[in-house]
Amino acid sequence: MRISFTRFSTYDTCPQRYKLQYVDRIPVPTAPELHFGSAVHEALRFLYDPKNLERPSLEMAVSAFIAAWRAREQDVAEERRQAYFEQGVDIIRRHYEKRFPPKDGRTVAATERQFDIALGREHTLNGRIDRIDVLPDQRVEIIDYKTGRTMPTQPMAEKDRQLAIYRMAADELYPGYKVTTIFLYLRHDFELKVDHGEEFLEETRAAVAEAVARIEVGDFDPNPGAHCDWCPYREHCPLFRAPVVPEDLEKVDIGALLREYADLKSQEKTISIRLGELKDQINAYLDACGTAQVEGNGYVAQRRAYKRIAAWDKARLKQTLEPLGLWDSVTDATSKSLKDLLSSDRLSFEQKREVEAALTWGETRTLRIKPAAGLRQEEENDA
Ligand code: SF4
Repeated sequence: MRISFTRFSTYDTCPQRYKLQYVDRIPVPTAPELHFGSAVHEALRFLYDPKNLERPSLEMAVSAFIAAWRAREQDVAEERRQAYFEQGVDIIRRHYEKRFPPKDGRTVAATERQFDIALGREHTLNGRIDRIDVLPDQRVEIIDYKTGRTMPTQPMAEKDRQLAIYRMAADELYPGYKVTTIFLYLRHDFELKVDHGEEFLEETRAAVAEAVARIEVGDFDPNPGAHCDWCPYREHCPLFRAPVVPEDLEKVDIGALLREYADLKSQEKTISIRLGELKDQINAYLDACGTAQVEGNGYVAQRRAYKRIAAWDKARLKQTLEPLGLWDSVTDATSKSLKDLLSSDRLSFEQKREVEAALTWGETRTLRIKPAAGLRQEEENDA
């Protein structure tokens, strides 16, 4: 299978969106932000094109943007269209004045460079890199233009699969060169530089291979999230379709259930913090009084302590239990399996002592609080 980075990225975000977009091919209008981004990319492709015989002027770069923008005339309110237009001209102008022509002895080797990466024998990942700069000392910079307002943090950029894939492509295109990948945020004129480690590149290869395998078996489960807010396929998405409610459930006030659940959930954290504080205070009181039980206001608090295995010397334990054929019964490393073994008759007294010597014991305390009347009833029943 041949998969483009764009398709992989769509699948990675939401498999259901991938299905609606690329399998069902449901047509949706292109968002004005995408038209805007494409026009800015087109102007920068023209500006840095290595085939240019002469250095383009600022006016030429702005004209390239205007031509690309007009070629994508769209059904958007005039005010919004004008705003995008002015932003585009401003981005090209500021970029030109600050960064053109390229500095640091760099040369632009390619713009909109296509690449193919083999994923095993059967699959190929392809895509296009906005710009490749070659610098002195065998260095290469892979530049991806971004026209959005929101920038990721550095750690987020380091986990970005797009740059990782570009890095793999650049490693194949420029063997022996040191490759740096860059998101260039044009609105802010800000560079986020990333040098991916081999481990993340491997992880990315595996993620693409897994996505391909899941696409091939038709695994298109929706993956809802914040991205649903701007998903153009939302009205076609099964998650957002009005449900067909069976007759016997028509009277259920689902809204009330949702609200009550959300209210309780929002209180859950506060309650659990307060419960922890109360428990600590009651335990401290019991400790200070040197007792395991206290009564007040019609309630009784009872504390019980249980011995538990806090740690074990695995090698020593194995040395004792393996010759007895009992090692496999404790390799799940739960203290319960060891406790069961110690209380069984499978070990002699001496062997139990050896096992005990390999263990470090700790204590678990539980606190039970009940109405005093209920507790007395229980005690009577026990008696
Ligand atoms: S609305 Fe959300 S869950 Fe549905 S297809 Fe779009 S991104 Fe996926």
